[in-house]
Amino acid sequence: MLDVKNLSVKLGGAQILENVSFTAREGEWLMILGPNGAGKSTLVNAISGGVPYTGEVRLDGENVHRMKPRVRARKLGVLSQNHHVSYAFTVEEIVRMGRYAHARGLFSPRSGEDEAHFLDAVEKTGLSGFLNQSVLTVSGGEMQRAFLAQLLCQDPRLMLLDEPTNHLDPKYQKQIFDLVRRWVAQSGRCVVSVVHDLSLARAYGTHALLLKDGRVCASGGIRAVLTDEHLRQVYDMDVSGWMRTLYEGWTEETT
Ligand code: ADP
Ligand code: MG
Repeated sequence: MLDVKNLSVKLGGAQILENVSFTAREGEWLMILGPNGAGKSTLVNAISGGVPYTGEVRLDGENVHRMKPRVRARKLGVLSQNHHVSYAFTVEEIVRMGRYAHARGLFSPRSGEDEAHFLDAVEKTGLSGFLNQSVLTVSGGEMQRAFLAQLLCQDPRLMLLDEPTNHLDPKYQKQIFDLVRRWVAQSGRCVVSVVHDLSLARAYGTHALLLKDGRVCASGGIRAVLTDEHLRQVYDMDVSGWMRTLYEGWTEETT
């Protein structure tokens, strides 16, 4: 579904990404992993058209950046790491904007399908109590859920998510990850996401792309990528050993 070939990005004279290539297929949840500054967000931004790059980004064989914006919006939905909102939209308005790509005209009335998608997205993200609140006043987690709900409303074929549960408490982390897993299981869909928590990545990802200093260190099936050896190379520490120690803390007697 998504084909990225020799993607390179230079910003302010620095080479941020160098010859990154990978493919994500229907039904897959590809985790983009790597330490701070590895280039994960830059990769997401290049694919979504926010950063100039050299190389190729194809969606179903078609160059993503030659598609008309509305055609592209039906295929590709993006959740960025930072949300910039400068106007006091309500949560409801933010969520409904997701239907723009499906509207027949700018001022066309809402269809029953729009309404069904809207209600479903609100329910799944637990936002029904916040619909009339300005997004300028909601918490980080509520804001994150509002933009996720917008993406569910948009219902693209490929979701690109940059740290989707960054601001979320464990209940919503689980809810969102379970939700995305069910979403990608429907036919014709694919998820590519940056996830910081390696345990979550391992539990939910089908595939992974491990980056270090703007280059691909490993890619393929999630378990083949997340080996002790690869993690040590990329993070300069015994990551899996540390994870095990942390989890052992939960299995010990606390009395
Ligand atoms: P990640 O998401 O993996 O933590 P980023 O993709 O945000 O990393 O950033 C990768 C590197 O590129 C970082 O070292 C960052 O400082 C640098 N960088 C990002 N944007 C710019 C820019 N506009 N100009 C110069 N350097 C940048
Ligand atoms: Mg980032």
